[in-house]
Amino acid sequence: MYQTKCSVNVKQPILWPITPDSPKSPPSYTSPPLANTLSSPSSESLSNRSYIRLNKSSLLSSSTSKTPAAPKSADTHKRSFFRFHSTTSSSVGNSSTNLSPSHSTYSYTSMGQTDSNVKRSQSDIQTFLEKEKEKFIERIENPLRQNAALEDFELIRTIGTGSFGRVLLVTHRQNAGEKIAMKILDKQVVVKMKQVDHTLAEKKILQALSCPFIVKLMYTFKDNSYLYLGLEYAPGGEMFTHLRAFGRYTEDMTRFYAAQIVLAFEYLHHLGVIYRDLKPENLLFAADGYLKMTDFGFAKRVKDRTWTLCGTPEYLAPEIILSRGYNKGVDYWALGVLMYEMSAGYPPFFADQPIQIYEKIVSGRVRFPNHFTVDLKDLLKNLLQVDLTRRYGNLKPGVRDIKEHRWFKDMDFIAIYQKSFPAPFIPRTDRENYETYEEQPLTVSSTERFPREFAEF
Ligand code: AMP
Repeated sequence: MYQTKCSVNVKQPILWPITPDSPKSPPSYTSPPLANTLSSPSSESLSNRSYIRLNKSSLLSSSTSKTPAAPKSADTHKRSFFRFHSTTSSSVGNSSTNLSPSHSTYSYTSMGQTDSNVKRSQSDIQTFLEKEKEKFIERIENPLRQNAALEDFELIRTIGTGSFGRVLLVTHRQNAGEKIAMKILDKQVVVKMKQVDHTLAEKKILQALSCPFIVKLMYTFKDNSYLYLGLEYAPGGEMFTHLRAFGRYTEDMTRFYAAQIVLAFEYLHHLGVIYRDLKPENLLFAADGYLKMTDFGFAKRVKDRTWTLCGTPEYLAPEIILSRGYNKGVDYWALGVLMYEMSAGYPPFFADQPIQIYEKIVSGRVRFPNHFTVDLKDLLKNLLQVDLTRRYGNLKPGVRDIKEHRWFKDMDFIAIYQKSFPAPFIPRTDRENYETYEEQPLTVSSTERFPREFAEF
């Protein structure tokens, strides 16, 4: 049995290097004991990591005199991310592809219906992904626009907070059974934090995606003050909460969840989209125990490379920290961090301060708990690989290096895609899986704010 922990978990953005420090004490916590830890556990103090702001030059030059201890218990603070507004990248524009739109009905699901246990050939998967890409391009070129208004929904309660607003559980008045997670972004805050492009990209990309492991965007609209993203509601809560309650997952559980992320990345990367914010906080449980990836605020269409500094310290790939141009390889690094965190109960690189985390990340050294199997360690070494020319997922065979690794040898990815494999954990949905927040009224301005900036929303 598990218990849902209740703690104050407000994601605080780290603006780097836009604003000066404004240290704040994070909430205190206790955590369930772990059965296995690194060999020299003493204490964990990851506090304050959310509030550090660095400038680029100091990123790797800080003193290492304070050596952080290995964790005794897992951190129950949600991790903050940071956003850096200035970007230089070769993003894919709308006109950068010559694939023509199609209305294909071919699907991964239909591929597996005859014999879901037979591993399909790579060419079947490629064909499927190509069709999905055509559908994605068509939706990107003909995006969903203003298909609802706030009056259409009954507001129930706040279930999450983000950097620019909050997420409310709502029901559609015409269809009371339909629960929606309404992400509400305050235009003024988005503009102030220089996140207009990221916000427009979040909506544009999300409305064009169709993957069983990614929340669907059902409604989108705006009013004078706010932008609204009506998302498929995932009632099971965040993996962050459940993982902390479990302590750590068995390797079978880790494999079950990792397989879904691998499939989601295979899909996203084939579309030319990188996600850039993988972490347990952004993985929600559907009622069936399968995952839904949420928060596409950092997702980006990238053809070649991008340089934007954004992410969550513990999950950043070395090439982001080192300000090298990067691409989808950063998602596979983050997959390695996530798999490690799921199996260990704590992430592979942690410290009191982000600068110390970054030093560990770029060092190329990872220590594994004794209970990790040889196969898991081998796969993780290939994902947490600083050398991009050797990192799995980033090599010529692409994601096949991961799917065909020994650790996944018994994994039926088709069955996972079809959700025909029984989930190892079904979240209780007869109770709240999201925290309780103080409600705040939505105050809508009488005049339209930032009409030009959000014209395309
Ligand atoms: P975000 O700003 O997208 O990171 O969302 C903030 C928080 O709201 C998340 O960490 C979740 O706790 C919650 N949330 C976001 N999307 C959903 C969803 N589709 N269903 C349920 N809760 C959600």
